[in-house]
Amino acid sequence: MAKTSATTQHFRDIEHDLGAHNYKPLDVVLTKGEGVWVWDVDGNRYMDCLSAYSAINQGHCHPKILEAMVAQAARLPLSSRAFRNDQLAPFYEEICALTNTHKVLPMNSGAEAVESAIKAVRKWGYESKGVPTDQAEIIVCENNFHGRTMTIVSFSTDPAARDNFGPYTPGFKVVPFGDAAALEAAITPNTVAFLAEPIQGEAGVIIPVDGYLRQVREICSRHNVMLILDEIQTGLGRTGKLLAEEHEDVEADLTLVGKALSGGFYPISAVLSNSEVLGVLQPGEHGSTFGGNPLACAVARAALKVLVEEGMIENAEKMGDYFLKGLKNIRNNTIREVRGRGLMLAVEFQPDAGGARRHCEALRQEGLLAKETHVNTIRFAPPLIVTQDQTDWALERIEKVLTRN
Ligand SMILES: *Cc1c(COP(=O)(O)O)cnc(C)c1O
Repeated sequence: MAKTSATTQHFRDIEHDLGAHNYKPLDVVLTKGEGVWVWDVDGNRYMDCLSAYSAINQGHCHPKILEAMVAQAARLPLSSRAFRNDQLAPFYEEICALTNTHKVLPMNSGAEAVESAIKAVRKWGYESKGVPTDQAEIIVCENNFHGRTMTIVSFSTDPAARDNFGPYTPGFKVVPFGDAAALEAAITPNTVAFLAEPIQGEAGVIIPVDGYLRQVREICSRHNVMLILDEIQTGLGRTGKLLAEEHEDVEADLTLVGKALSGGFYPISAVLSNSEVLGVLQPGEHGSTFGGNPLACAVARAALKVLVEEGMIENAEKMGDYFLKGLKNIRNNTIREVRGRGLMLAVEFQPDAGGARRHCEALRQEGLLAKETHVNTIRFAPPLIVTQDQTDWALERIEKVLTRN
């Protein structure tokens, strides 16, 4: 694979001069995608093993989602919620039937879904649980990632996400992830909700002990605390189930989805609620100009349909197991742990092994795009349509890079 070309350098320089430096991307300038593959401006092909943080579960440019998007864009992209549109109701029906949900609140970004859930459970706390005004507490987990808005970073424990952005939104308590006893000890009569990721993605694919979510579900029910599961990354097939909560047979009171809800075509998110919580929102109390727009609904309908009809969830389970076995067979004594569920996989290196970034750079040279999370972990999360041959192709390159270094 080529070194950084003059063309790539040119794009990089302009980004550096004119853009905010809030990302540190690999130096590959992509121009085209199809299935598990992407191409850069110099014509090099790569396998995408990040899938835009799991927004591209259905693969790049899925033809059926593309078709739905183009057709709806030509007909009616935006109506605003001041009027009704003929895509919203069928979107509600389809996503409710698929996820066993009773109420839906459509938003745009993942962070907006999180914010919306926070607003809804607070209001529920005051109006239904009887929490005194402005005393509502929400319990969250250490090393969480729920997005980048001011309220969300207020309860982040990552200094990079949080430092120097204060003053912070009050009303949050932090407990260790994976520790059900700590959650129970932190609950007070003013606790309205517990918010967690079923598997912590940005923290480095941290999988809690078996039984954690079941225990959490039981504790929340016993204390009349709403369980909010952020499935923005784990949901929609990534872990080999439609929702990761299914691995432990639990149902959250509010489930948050985003990312792959559009197959990567468009920012679409939703709060899915099986309780009375979303019922507290009355006209004028919450909204979004683009939330629930007809283009978003048409795209989401197609994205959900292909996920199910094309067997992507089952494939994620099968290929995930196969990929994990392959990763575990790689011999490199700087590897601390290999872990994963479905196609949400990670290789963590020892803290003194020089970091994961250099491996990502080397993998890029071999035609495979993956990204380090924090310093010492590489996440592997290809589109859920990846075949066994393609998985073998990826494993061969990963093994080559990790046994050489
Ligand atoms: C990506 C992500 C978010 C935020 O989504 P945005 O669309 O970037 O706002 C929230 N929670 C989790 C678990 C995520 O992975």
